[in-house]
Amino acid sequence: MTDYTEKFQDMRWQKLRLKVFERDNWNCRMCGETEGSFHCHHLYYNSDTEPWDYPMNTFKTLCSDCHEKEKGKMNNLFTRLTNTVKAKGFLSTEAEVLITAIEDMIVLKDFPLQMMAVSVILKDEALIKRWMKKVFFDDAPPEDEDG
Ligand SMILES: [Zn+2]
Repeated sequence: MTDYTEKFQDMRWQKLRLKVFERDNWNCRMCGETEGSFHCHHLYYNSDTEPWDYPMNTFKTLCSDCHEKEKGKMNNLFTRLTNTVKAKGFLSTEAEVLITAIEDMIVLKDFPLQMMAVSVILKDEALIKRWMKKVFFDDAPPEDEDG
């Protein structure tokens, strides 16, 4: 079995990262740096997906410093998220409702607006009930969008 890091030598990966750097105008998407070495950052990984088989919108050009910071920060946040969910007393099915809600969430490009949307959604009882229904009764007929 090939080591995952060896896959980054693959021509498909090399081509894709150049495409991402060009799309992002050779700018770090976090700090705006335009010089030095860049990384093609994956927003997420699936264990069964090749590094180059993700949609283009799941990559971001980051400079070396920001890439290191982002990786460390995300790992800490994932641990914190897991611990928070457990500390709130969520059982697996309740955690599944939460994950379904995040999967259904529309991602807005405007950061303050995105944060506002998250806070509103987490307090919207009707939406929470819809996600619960989806998790517990996913064979139920689709609800009328207006209802
Ligand atoms: Zn940067």
